[in-house]
Amino acid sequence: MRTWYKEFSFSTRKQKEVVDVTSTIERAVDESGIKNGLLLVQIPHATASLVLNEGESGLKQDLLNKLEELFPAGGGYMHDRIDDNAHSHLKSAVIGSSRVLPVIDGGIVRGTWQNFLIIEEDGPRTRRLAVFMMGE
Ligand code: ZN
Repeated sequence: MRTWYKEFSFSTRKQKEVVDVTSTIERAVDESGIKNGLLLVQIPHATASLVLNEGESGLKQDLLNKLEELFPAGGGYMHDRIDDNAHSHLKSAVIGSSRVLPVIDGGIVRGTWQNFLIIEEDGPRTRRLAVFMMGE
């Protein structure tokens, strides 16, 4: 069994946006040379998150809108006493920052409408994306 690891860096351009990183992850899996195993994708940040869903522009906006409805900025949060981004932390905490998927015969096992989407909630800034592979 082998392991493989690579970090990518990318910049977000808005305070809130959804960035599709599917092609980056697919290229990473190819580059790893591992054909069968587990793929772990992690975004090492507390105010952004990672989901598997459709990369359609309307749905991307729906995701941002619904999260804003659930966790509006300035909602009287304790964390806002020392920072101004509690709403961003809460969105990330609820969704999560990593996903594990199987890789079979060189392909990521995912649904047709399951793209890797990073939800930026505290941008614009530079974000890291970690890709780990384990297998043969
Ligand atoms: Zn904070």
